[in-house]
Amino acid sequence: MTAPAICWFKRDLRVADHPALARAAALGPVIPLYIVEPEMWAQPDASGRQYAFLAECLDGLREDLAASGLPLVIRVGDAVEVLDAVRATQGAAHLVSHEETGNGWTHARDRRVAAWARGQGVAWHEVPQCGVVRRLQSRDRWQGARDAFMRGPVVPVPGCTPVPGLTGDALPDARALGLDDPCPSRQRGGRHAGLRALESFLSLRGETYTRSMSSPLTGARACSRISPHLAFGTLSVREAVQAGRAAPGGRGADWARAMRSFQARLAWRDHFMQKLEDEPAIEHRCLHPAYEGLRPPVPDAARLAAWARGETGLPFVDACMRSLIATGWLNFRMRAMLMAVASYHLWLDWRATGAVLARYFTDYEPGIHWSQVQMQSGTTGMNTIRIYNPVKQGLDQDPTGAFTRAWVPELAAVPDAYLQRPWEWEGAKGLSGTRYPAPVVDPVAAAKAAKEAVYACRRAHRGDAETARIVGKHASRKRAPRRRPRDAGQLSLDL
Ligand SMILES: Cc1cc2nc3c(=O)[nH]c(=O)nc-3n(C[C@H](O)[C@H](O)[C@H](O)COP(=O)(O)OP(=O)(O)OC[C@H]3O[C@@H](n4cnc5c(N)ncnc54)[C@H](O)[C@@H]3O)c2cc1C
Repeated sequence: MTAPAICWFKRDLRVADHPALARAAALGPVIPLYIVEPEMWAQPDASGRQYAFLAECLDGLREDLAASGLPLVIRVGDAVEVLDAVRATQGAAHLVSHEETGNGWTHARDRRVAAWARGQGVAWHEVPQCGVVRRLQSRDRWQGARDAFMRGPVVPVPGCTPVPGLTGDALPDARALGLDDPCPSRQRGGRHAGLRALESFLSLRGETYTRSMSSPLTGARACSRISPHLAFGTLSVREAVQAGRAAPGGRGADWARAMRSFQARLAWRDHFMQKLEDEPAIEHRCLHPAYEGLRPPVPDAARLAAWARGETGLPFVDACMRSLIATGWLNFRMRAMLMAVASYHLWLDWRATGAVLARYFTDYEPGIHWSQVQMQSGTTGMNTIRIYNPVKQGLDQDPTGAFTRAWVPELAAVPDAYLQRPWEWEGAKGLSGTRYPAPVVDPVAAAKAAKEAVYACRRAHRGDAETARIVGKHASRKRAPRRRPRDAGQLSLDL
């Protein structure tokens, strides 16, 4: 009898467009395995809301596999030990999974699994599931490779032969893994929820995408909201790309612009993930080493806590943070502002603040996250330095103040004209009774000081060999729009 193949589900919790499952099914009877790794869930970027989302995804996966006659096997433990036990009892000769661009911990775990597989004579087939290219030789070839992958056919659900008599473990309770914070108002997990989000975006909600995405008031509805589904793989990126391309046209210029924007962002996903794939150290080290040590390595504890709780005294920043804490999601511009305020105004090291945001995001995706965290902190040595003014952002993105008032009820008595800078209101003293704090920094002076420090570093290293290396290895090869050149030294101050 043919030896079974283990299909190791990771961040790919679906059966449609699942090249690894198709490969496993072609090799022999399939053991569909998900491993809950307690050590992974103890990492500083993991959170209870991500685990709760995962649990819902696994419920859906179990149902979808059952329709193919396969029982999902969940095991709890160290991946090597679990895989070895399955190999020993079932005689599995193949291990099939998707290539994973994960955090440093999963990277190290995959190296251990590779060593184990070699030692046991198990063939580990790792296959791509998105536009990230493993062992990429040059960025010059990346776009073409991604386009070819996205044009490829969506892989149909394969017919699978089950392995009888397999048993698994129950999914551990979150608290047993040291996780709390299920975030009841977060998005729901599972393939059905993912398909619903994609469908409603492409049929209706996407209409105002381009003009509504930047405000936290309108972005929650106008954006696709498929990010946690891409992160946990209940939708494949190729499915999203192809569904977007197939969405009916003829709905006017707004619609066409929205669909182009959506495709561009799906491509950004792979572009940013490729950076972590090519240089896994960017989770822990500044992309350009010159920025190492610019900020204190141990962040100011009071400022960090105020920022992480949404109590900086900067109303729009606090509103965005509290909304994120409550819902597990925030639109792109406000994520960028939160990060920039932490890194510039509060002068906090990105490693600490990046981990806080990672835990708050239901859609935490290491490759996008750490690349964006560094970009918004000005430590890449190549991207435009953007210092957002949180008062101006509040006025621009929440002109009526409705969002700020909803999340910062302590400001109920503050007149509209002072909502984003209550410290200038003559009645500000009255706020002390409501416990809304004075701003932790003067936003204008703090931005100026940060600008001088970061720009001095940028000037000193402009055009050096390391900057050239970084641009060569990581920069997008697409031509930047003329009005906002992508550069190796531009500064943008949002005053
Ligand atoms: C500091 C910071 C951290 C971030 N961390 C994450 C993260 O952990 N996980 C994550 O999915 N996104 C992250 N983003 C990117 C972006 O904010 C989210 O992808 C987006 O808000 C998700 O909502 P959506 O699915 O409705 O996006 P849409 O606007 O509908 O976009 C569709 C998809 O395109 C991709 N995408 C959109 N914007 C970006 C972007 N700027 N860069 C890369 N890919 C993008 C995402 O996969 C997204 O689901 C981060 C941004 C910043 C500034």
